[in-house]
Amino acid sequence: MTLPISFEFFPPKTDIGASKLLTVHEELSQLNPEFFSVTYGAGGSTRDRTLSTIDALRNKAVPVAPHLSCVGDTREKLGDLLQRYQGQGIRRLVALRGDLPSGQVGWGELPYAVDLVRFIRETTGDHFSIEVAAYPEMHPQAASFRQDVHNLVAKFDAGADSAITQFFFNAESYFHLVEQVQKAGVFKPIIPGIMPITNASNLIRFSDSCGADVPRWIRKQLADYGDDSASIQAFGHDVVAKLCERLMQGGAPGLHFYTMNQTQPTVALVEELGLAGC
Ligand code: FAD
Repeated sequence: MTLPISFEFFPPKTDIGASKLLTVHEELSQLNPEFFSVTYGAGGSTRDRTLSTIDALRNKAVPVAPHLSCVGDTREKLGDLLQRYQGQGIRRLVALRGDLPSGQVGWGELPYAVDLVRFIRETTGDHFSIEVAAYPEMHPQAASFRQDVHNLVAKFDAGADSAITQFFFNAESYFHLVEQVQKAGVFKPIIPGIMPITNASNLIRFSDSCGADVPRWIRKQLADYGDDSASIQAFGHDVVAKLCERLMQGGAPGLHFYTMNQTQPTVALVEELGLAGC
């Protein structure tokens, strides 16, 4: 089956992490993804590490897409980054608002992702293909689901080409979001973000912080496995593979994997789904 896949990395904190990431990148490149993306800490908190990760990956066969967040940053700094990426021949960005790191105050000159999308289009025209974030279970700060859909539509109208979702485990929430966006007259791709389950406490901590729901039946079974990481990984693989199958059957236009800078869980899923080397 042919379905575009893409992989997300975070910028490593140490030299050992950076060198390990090169190996992970090489292994995941074998699966023929459309692109790798690299996250960016809001307010520029990972700026140097994101830039050095992009530098390390940008001359490889698979294109790399930097994430760029606007909250707490100035037009000037964001413009410098755009110029740098443009000069490096990068053609895709993931444009986000971001969350201000604790202690940092001031929303900056571009308070929402829609403002960043407009800014990118104003300053660089059609050079970049722009991805934005979407939330099947609603962004935690949104006033309502309707307002969140309206915001996603506004990001598309401002010039975003496609969206990648926050991770989720309930396929119906994704289909509902796609339906609502299409009802608003937008038919651009909304790619499900897929989080492999490998570690119960990390998953629960992460989902609590970003407002993604881990259903009770998954939480309970993860709790039952305690420290038995082999069983957690086998169960997690099964749950996420079934979710991906359901999304593919329902017409998802691609899958974006949150790799957590690891090879094995993502490779196992991609191979089981028959998407390797498409
Ligand atoms: P926005 O689209 O601006 O929305 C933020 C909130 O504001 C929503 O609740 C929206 O409904 C509301 N809103 C929008 N416009 C208005 C308005 N005019 N008035 C009132 N409310 C409004 N974070 C990082 O820091 N770095 C990353 O690299 C990163 N990568 C991500 C990748 C993906 C695929 C996803 C899904 C998320 C990522 N995040 C990242 C997290 C993201 O930055 C946070 O979820 C952040 O809180 C919102 O970003 P956004 O781009 O969705 O913001």
